[in-house]
Amino acid sequence: MQQSSRSTNRRFKQHPIKYIFVTGGVVSSIGKGLTAAAIGALLEARGLRVAMTKMDPYINVDPGTMSPIQHGEVFVTDDGAETDLDLGHYQRFTHANLRRKNSFTTGQIYDAVISRERKGDYLGGTVQVIPHVTEQIKENMFAASEGVDVSIIEVGGTIGDIESLPFLEAIRQYRDEIGRENTVFVHVTLVPYIKAAGELKTKPTQHSVKELSSIGIQPDILVCRTEYPMSEELRGKIARFCSVERDCVFEAMDVDTIYRMPVVLHSQGMDARVCEFLGIWSGQPQLQPWVRILERIEKPKLRIKIGVVGKYMGVRDSYKSLYEALTHAGIEHESAVEIVGIDSEQLESGNSAQMLSGLDGVVVPGGFGDRGVDGKIEAIRYCRENNLPFFGICLGMQLATIEFARNVLKLNKATSEEFDPSASHKIIHLMESQTNIERKGGSMRLGAYECIVKPHSQGAKAYQAQKISERHRHRFEFNPKYRADFENAGFVVSGESPDGTLVEMMEVPSHPWFLACQFHPELKSRPMQPHPLFSAFVKAATEKNIR
Ligand code: GLN
Repeated sequence: MQQSSRSTNRRFKQHPIKYIFVTGGVVSSIGKGLTAAAIGALLEARGLRVAMTKMDPYINVDPGTMSPIQHGEVFVTDDGAETDLDLGHYQRFTHANLRRKNSFTTGQIYDAVISRERKGDYLGGTVQVIPHVTEQIKENMFAASEGVDVSIIEVGGTIGDIESLPFLEAIRQYRDEIGRENTVFVHVTLVPYIKAAGELKTKPTQHSVKELSSIGIQPDILVCRTEYPMSEELRGKIARFCSVERDCVFEAMDVDTIYRMPVVLHSQGMDARVCEFLGIWSGQPQLQPWVRILERIEKPKLRIKIGVVGKYMGVRDSYKSLYEALTHAGIEHESAVEIVGIDSEQLESGNSAQMLSGLDGVVVPGGFGDRGVDGKIEAIRYCRENNLPFFGICLGMQLATIEFARNVLKLNKATSEEFDPSASHKIIHLMESQTNIERKGGSMRLGAYECIVKPHSQGAKAYQAQKISERHRHRFEFNPKYRADFENAGFVVSGESPDGTLVEMMEVPSHPWFLACQFHPELKSRPMQPHPLFSAFVKAATEKNIR
């Protein structure tokens, strides 16, 4: 313990960074990630540099292998890490540099500790949760915080879970080691409304804070999620029972749009209080950009409907970044985007006109496996033949090429190696070189890759750039053997890898907007900087009725 506290102190003296730790109580999905992200946005608006990190208490090394139904989407960073979807919130609310270091799990911590133990790094000592696991957690937190003024670290899970105890112990020690004046504990909790009593109840919050205190963490700030406004009296009661100052009890009512969060928290003094706790001097935050986007969200000039044809339609979090990217583009074009989720298994040739004709555009997003693939291909055919704006992403691009091969090039058996490894026309295949990639995730192409955009294409018009970089998460690629046939028939390659071997983007120039990409543009969209391809797609959708 002595030694570990000395090493944290030494590291801290070299780089004095302020820390905000965000925990959650009462129930899961309480919005810790959004709260952390909104605090990040407020601090950035005050001119501070922030780092944002998520520590997850599950044993999987990363969420790459977890089902999107269980865990929501997998967010990918530029350096190719498959991470928790909260990093998507961080990306959308801040300009924090998100890297592999900014998302780690119990699995990763134990992996590191066990390999150190095997190498003999612990010099014959008994390896224990305290201090070895907690020390590893502190090292990871420190590494994730380099080069910023404030590092915001979110602890996954709910207070009371066995799994998150080592993380909580690590943040408790951290405060002792670097000092109160350099750390803030924010606890996000629930204040439920009990219908029968007609009242908001504070007891679950009291219990959650009591539980936290019993492990040595006294929160400085409480963020109370509630469906109804909290009275001053209720705020006072929470403050008193939880030993938190009254003006440190914040109300987070359910909001119409998540992008209201920074303004809501600021109006109650969140950023001022955080800066006071941390002894940071900064000017008032520049919140005009946030206010401007809220004005646009409130008063849309147009309403459009975008169909998303996928297989996880019941679970909103599965396509989180995609939905947000569509919303961002809508904000730019002063349009409210209504997302119509369409289960691809319900879509057949007989009913596609009925299911899709009322839409202004269709997205076929990424995915794995062959379930529901025929319905997606049918949706793509409908869009191509009926001039309906279409945007294919990753698997969506692969299926667009299969649709084109089957229906235009008349290669009836065209498919992807993923669905039928012995097929005669593998339009989408596994490249020889792909099998040798050694990055985490086996043969997956993960993270940022450069792409050269074809001049004068739809893609070039959207990006206004010749060279771009986008994030990937896939195994299969377009088979270059078919490239000339596609281009001669009007489905052209508008983006490729710098060496020309990999197809990154394709489009049908004779169509109002039919574009597909092998990468995941939704991962880089922000409310104030919508992704160029989403912006162009939504613009085409808003113009559909003009045509
Ligand atoms: N299953 C496809 C592949 O691995 C597409 C992946 C995706 O859409 N993310 O190549």
